[in-house]
Amino acid sequence: MAQRELRRTIESVPTSDGAGVKLRRSLGSVRGLYLDPFLMLDEFSSDDAADYIAGFPSHPHRGFETVTYMLDGHMRHEDHLGHRGELTAGGVQWMTAGRGIIHSEMPQQDRGRMRGFQLWINLPRQEKMKPPKYRDIAPRDIPVIDVPGGGRVKVIAGTITVDGRDVAGPIQRLTTDPTYLDVELAPGAAFRHSLPRDYTAFVYAFEGSVAIGADGHAEVLADHRAGVTSEGEDVLLRGGDHGGRALLIAGRPLREPVVQYGPFVMTTREEVEQAVRDYRNGTLTDAHAEELR
Ligand code: FE
Repeated sequence: MAQRELRRTIESVPTSDGAGVKLRRSLGSVRGLYLDPFLMLDEFSSDDAADYIAGFPSHPHRGFETVTYMLDGHMRHEDHLGHRGELTAGGVQWMTAGRGIIHSEMPQQDRGRMRGFQLWINLPRQEKMKPPKYRDIAPRDIPVIDVPGGGRVKVIAGTITVDGRDVAGPIQRLTTDPTYLDVELAPGAAFRHSLPRDYTAFVYAFEGSVAIGADGHAEVLADHRAGVTSEGEDVLLRGGDHGGRALLIAGRPLREPVVQYGPFVMTTREEVEQAVRDYRNGTLTDAHAEELR
């Protein structure tokens, strides 16, 4: 039973995106490092409206999924067909861009705290051009499970087992079979999650610290860092000296070529060039995507 270990740490780099939203990018900030199937992870966190007020005006996506998890604040999502979604504290928007979405993500507040994450997950080649789809997940639809010893786990994607009981999150059965957990642990409290041996897994600590790995060999991951695990069956997390809170994200690798140009992620250069042309010509998206909501 191979316990996963912390294999490498990715610091988050302060950057800005959209019309000037300040954020910290961990995955996606190191050139040449691809945690198949995860392309990018951004954390945004500020009490100062100047850091987020400009939002993310109209921009395209093709070939992958974006997962926005709000901890605090209120953003509105609106796409080129007028579909609108409200992202509020504790909620998740799981968006499959597929062949194309052009949308904006704009703050609906001019003061107070805005905090959350956006994760980009690749799509397999045969799903990159499928019609776009949204899943808006309300906080009440995300199971929250207490952890023995103090703490709790929110299950956004995948299934966890606690005290012999399986608890399934609202997102299931995607090709990348993602796990997306928000794990909060009291000092010393432990949470174990089992995964297929070859799945990619990483932990992003964002409050306090968590230790990763078997007792006696565990390594501490401080906040605002991503810790990539080795292959293995189990991820064991333990709350650090002052407790900790982290995302635990895992998935099945696609093992396909990745050619990315900004918000277009395809498998060949020709496909990316086609995406750029389609965007310029106004044909990125499927005007007949009535399957949207
Ligand atoms: Fe976007």
